[in-house]
Amino acid sequence: LAVAGVQTLHPYQPGKPIDELARELGLNEADIVKLASNENPLGPGPKALAAVEQAIADITLYPDGFGFDLKKALCEKLGVEMNQITLGNGSSDILDFITRVFVNDGDNVVVSQHAFAIYGIVAAMVGAECIQVPAVDYGHDLDAMAAAINERTRVVFVTNPNNPTGTWVGRDALVSFLNKVPDNVLVLLDEAYFEYVHEADYPDGISLLANYPNLVVTRTFSKAYGLAALRVGYSVSSPELADLLNRVRPPFNVNSAALAAAAAALSDDEYVASSIAVNDAGMKQLEQAFNAMSLYFIPSVGNFIAFRVPQGFDAAAVYQGLLQKGVIVRPVANYDMPGFLRVSIGTETENKAFIDALTAVLS
Ligand code: PMP
Repeated sequence: LAVAGVQTLHPYQPGKPIDELARELGLNEADIVKLASNENPLGPGPKALAAVEQAIADITLYPDGFGFDLKKALCEKLGVEMNQITLGNGSSDILDFITRVFVNDGDNVVVSQHAFAIYGIVAAMVGAECIQVPAVDYGHDLDAMAAAINERTRVVFVTNPNNPTGTWVGRDALVSFLNKVPDNVLVLLDEAYFEYVHEADYPDGISLLANYPNLVVTRTFSKAYGLAALRVGYSVSSPELADLLNRVRPPFNVNSAALAAAAAALSDDEYVASSIAVNDAGMKQLEQAFNAMSLYFIPSVGNFIAFRVPQGFDAAAVYQGLLQKGVIVRPVANYDMPGFLRVSIGTETENKAFIDALTAVLS
């Protein structure tokens, strides 16, 4: 019954619920260390939490379908206009809008090898081909991606930084790429991990919007803002593109607790700064451990890091070994990265639990 594009897809395989896993392993739920989905190990900030509590006190009415307060807070923070913003049920919602608005059956989209998997899925859903361009040192080869654009290309996805590799592209490379992309091809710049990046040459995609009317930038509240369960993300673009995206946005796609929490989170700079500091320290902790164990890792600017299991070990078996010890990481076999696993940066204690478990599994 399904259309051809959907026949190629498989349902998303979520991990086991933590309570179920704990029962299976004979562990306490509190002993499970989940470092699998790049969430904020500190949880939500106090301002966001207070806003959720207030929002759920009355859940009778539909949420504000325009998202006025959140858009206003975003405009103040980002220096953009309300009509440039599209709100999503997570930023992955916006990726779905992108292909529905701009991509037809028989068209194609261009992505990098090892790029975040959702792009291929949203392209397949509308019957489009996904052209994968070989990566260089696990990162995007923007010159090759521009060269891969053909007359059927409608969207190029650039992930900065990319998940699961943690690689990033600098300002000059991005601008030179944008200059090469034809006006009638959309560039989706996915900045889900924007807040974590410190590199001086890391470009703020929103600052480039004025020069590139074919650019859409997506960001999320799921990572540095600690609100993954509430599902809220957004895009910023020209008002014309935002108008098109909003035409396919389902009414009330962001719930009232999410709207309130996201707006409150934007005002909590202190919490975001402490989240970033925990991530920086945790990244160092893991890099040091990988170096001490002589494990290769891909230098990452995100809140996760991909490392290679030693020769003679199988990544799937190491993943299972860690799981048996209550540590959940992310297999990346579907990312064309044999031998690699991805681990999210946790608190110091969680990172230590992961390092200890990994040491035991590899010994
Ligand atoms: N883009 C990238 C690169 C991601 O890694 C993720 C989440 N893993 C998303 C987008 C989607 O996040 P969300 O839908 O929670 O905003």
